[in-house]
Amino acid sequence: MKSVLLLGATGSIGTTFLTALRNQPELDIRIAGMTASSNKALEQLGREFNAPYFYLQGSDRSKLKAIIDETKPDIILNAIAGTDGLTASAEALDSGLDLALANKESIVLGGHFLLDKAKDNNARIIPVDSEHSAIYHLLMGKKAERLIITASGGPFRTLENLEDVTIQEALNHPTWKMGKKITIDSATLANKGLEVIEASLLFGFPPEKIDVTVHPQSIIHSMIETAEGAVYALMSPPDMTLPILTAIIEEGSGMKDIVKPLSFSSGLSLTFSPWDRKRFPMLEYAYEALRQGAGYRIAYASADETAVNAFLNGRIGFMDIARITKEVLSSDYPASEPDTLEEILEIRKDAERKAEALC
Ligand code: NAD
Ligand code: MG
Repeated sequence: MKSVLLLGATGSIGTTFLTALRNQPELDIRIAGMTASSNKALEQLGREFNAPYFYLQGSDRSKLKAIIDETKPDIILNAIAGTDGLTASAEALDSGLDLALANKESIVLGGHFLLDKAKDNNARIIPVDSEHSAIYHLLMGKKAERLIITASGGPFRTLENLEDVTIQEALNHPTWKMGKKITIDSATLANKGLEVIEASLLFGFPPEKIDVTVHPQSIIHSMIETAEGAVYALMSPPDMTLPILTAIIEEGSGMKDIVKPLSFSSGLSLTFSPWDRKRFPMLEYAYEALRQGAGYRIAYASADETAVNAFLNGRIGFMDIARITKEVLSSDYPASEPDTLEEILEIRKDAERKAEALC
């Protein structure tokens, strides 16, 4: 039996996970505790799953430590939205616990600081993001030369002019139902930018060995290419249940019928096309930030988050998210990997302040 501390229980990932447990009580998983940044629905979920629940908002390290000490989980599922998730990831690894990581912002900000913590404490970081979950499983027993990350292309894949798109249009993702921040990031392709950085750090690939291809069906979750020239892909319906559960319990440990296998009998079309650098500059900026070093990576994620919030509040237009991020990235940041959480949070604050001034 695996006991899980679920951070971000009321969100999209949290709900998908709890729905799977509700539908399949035979799964060998128990909720050790759960958190959310709003009490709405949390209390009821706590009662339903007979688990202690905690209000948790922001980067309160000592509260997290107390929650981990009280709930004593085997693994932490970090499904918090945004850069505030970093502190939780650091605290999980410091406690020597495996980390099932949905919160991609953690690794984009934390980078080697988190990877080193995992190594020092003999803890694993197991990706939940569907692309990285695919690559993680494809790399088991295989050596790859190149990673190919798929992107759905978001709601504006074929739209020429993105200047005047509305909040509602940007929130309308064609294949995935997700929280607001990641949905806007998917519309600008900043989500894919964060994922390229995430893949580079998690799997140790330089930016020039990571490609992105637009695959609107979201059936292939990502691919690896070997030295011989073979490409391996992981395919399943677009449903986060599989990557969440395979991060928590190992494949082959008795899990059954988690998603409906794809049907080929009535035909299945899969298409791939290059991404448009002009309309989706946020992905280009992520590659640049990755090449420039740690501080730029942190600034990219922080400026994007500030600008996305301003867009969602109606303060700036859709394309301003990229303009503001570019402007923030034109400043100087330390290129070397920070050694402490405080250094990382300092760069985050600096980039947020700069972005806020431009909103
Ligand atoms: P969401 O907005 O639906 O839910 C976020 C959860 O975290 C909620 O329970 C909320 O109460 C809590 N939370 C929000 N802000 C917080 C804060 N500042 N401090 C502490 N808790 C806070 O988000 P989501 O779509 O479930 O995404 C969660 C994470 O998983 C994100 O990093 C996202 O990029 C990643 N992810 C999501 C999906 C998906 O399908 N939704 C897929 C891949 C990766
Ligand atoms: Mg993803």
